[in-house]
Amino acid sequence: MSFQPLHFYQTGTFTIGNRLLGEEDRTVQSDIRRTNSLNSGHRACQGCGEALGARFAIDAAMNAARGRLIAANATGCLEVFSTPYPETSWQIPWIHSLFGNTAAVATGIAAAIKVKRTKRRDG
Ligand code: SF4
Repeated sequence: MSFQPLHFYQTGTFTIGNRLLGEEDRTVQSDIRRTNSLNSGHRACQGCGEALGARFAIDAAMNAARGRLIAANATGCLEVFSTPYPETSWQIPWIHSLFGNTAAVATGIAAAIKVKRTKRRDG
């Protein structure tokens, strides 16, 4: 009877977040503090780079915003595959905008939050 060596493909690579490595060597995918803001179950094509890129961008934004993030998402694949009505893959507040006005929508959100904070502070 012949034996083959056992390989753990999750170690030594960046796939599946290196869950079998020591905590200090793991990538962000297996970080227990990861918010998983764009959840699994969306309808992107298998291997979609946009879904992967969005997850990394959202991770970075969540870190920068200390977990207080509102996503403004222009029309496109990310919007289509993550929000097929009545479902959503987003685990954070999310708003859909048209192609070219996402920055304006995000600026409006920021302005509204600023006003709300001012009103709360002033009573
Ligand atoms: S960007 Fe859109 S079309 Fe391209 S792989 Fe992702 S879901 Fe599919």
